[in-house]
Amino acid sequence: MQRAESTPADVAPLTLQSPWQTQLSRAVRDPRELCRRLGLDDTWLPGAEGGHALFEVRVPEAFLARMRPGDPHDPLLRQVLPLSAESESVPGYVTDPLQEAAHTPGPGLIHKYAGRVLLIASPACAVNCRYCFRRHFPYDDNSPSRAQWESSLDTLRSDSSIREAILSGGDPLAASDRQLAWLVERLEAIPHLKRLRLHTRLPVVIPDRIDDALLGWLGNTRLQKVMVLHINHANEIDQAVVEACARLKAAGVTLLNQSVLLRGINDSVASLAELSERLFEAGVLPYYLHVLDPVAGAAHFDVPDEEARELVAGLREVLPGFLMPRLVREIPGEASKTPL
Ligand code: SF4
Repeated sequence: MQRAESTPADVAPLTLQSPWQTQLSRAVRDPRELCRRLGLDDTWLPGAEGGHALFEVRVPEAFLARMRPGDPHDPLLRQVLPLSAESESVPGYVTDPLQEAAHTPGPGLIHKYAGRVLLIASPACAVNCRYCFRRHFPYDDNSPSRAQWESSLDTLRSDSSIREAILSGGDPLAASDRQLAWLVERLEAIPHLKRLRLHTRLPVVIPDRIDDALLGWLGNTRLQKVMVLHINHANEIDQAVVEACARLKAAGVTLLNQSVLLRGINDSVASLAELSERLFEAGVLPYYLHVLDPVAGAAHFDVPDEEARELVAGLREVLPGFLMPRLVREIPGEASKTPL
């Protein structure tokens, strides 16, 4: 058979964006489109549109591809599908459940725990998780310019008790590599800083984010590198995620995972055990299993403490100790996470 000649339409257009940035910009951001792509019937639409008005839908294609079409209870879909329950007002569920506004010494900085400072390196996320405790976070007030960063970084420069800088967000890896390299260069020039930690969901929802440009600045820093992934269900870990983790490990990054215990998503011993097993296969150690932070709009995800303890007791019967995440709650004002 004769090979077809290439036509202009076959030639990839020139683009200044890297593949991950293209995927980021093409994420599904329309609740109607999300329902259509997953084959959900129209009964889901009013809730999806109502929730979207409160906290917009955002789902990258690479994550969408791991969901089961036609299954409204798919554990990945339920993390991103707005429901009508989000608009219900539930006592105790508030916009700033961790009282972070009280621990913001400068734009983009949060200083809650001794020895560690958190930097909001990007206000954007690649995926919008419905249970997110920062779904109401005032990102507009915490998106520093470079001049503001310089002044915020003085907080770290002047406090020799700070050993660890934590890049958070949003998702820190939603920032460009140029921006991140600039920030990390300043951090590693602070002599008393030893560790760089990143809390991110991007290697999971767009594994192509772990590209050569990222590995350039991350692999070369003198700081010890820890990445805390955020994976709630074993189905999130496909081959592309495994390969992204392998690239990170080869660059000297210690990989940990934190999950949130979520009603209807991972609230069974079998689901949590499979998650720990799959994480370890991917070279990631389970770190924390958080109970839900009481953020307005997410009460329907809550699993009561007693049930959470029973689940963890059941998990201990089937997993070796090193695959057990620590069940914790964050209580505003406490010096650390509180074990349950
Ligand atoms: S900050 Fe994390 S949990 Fe919250 S929406 Fe972004 S990726 Fe999801």
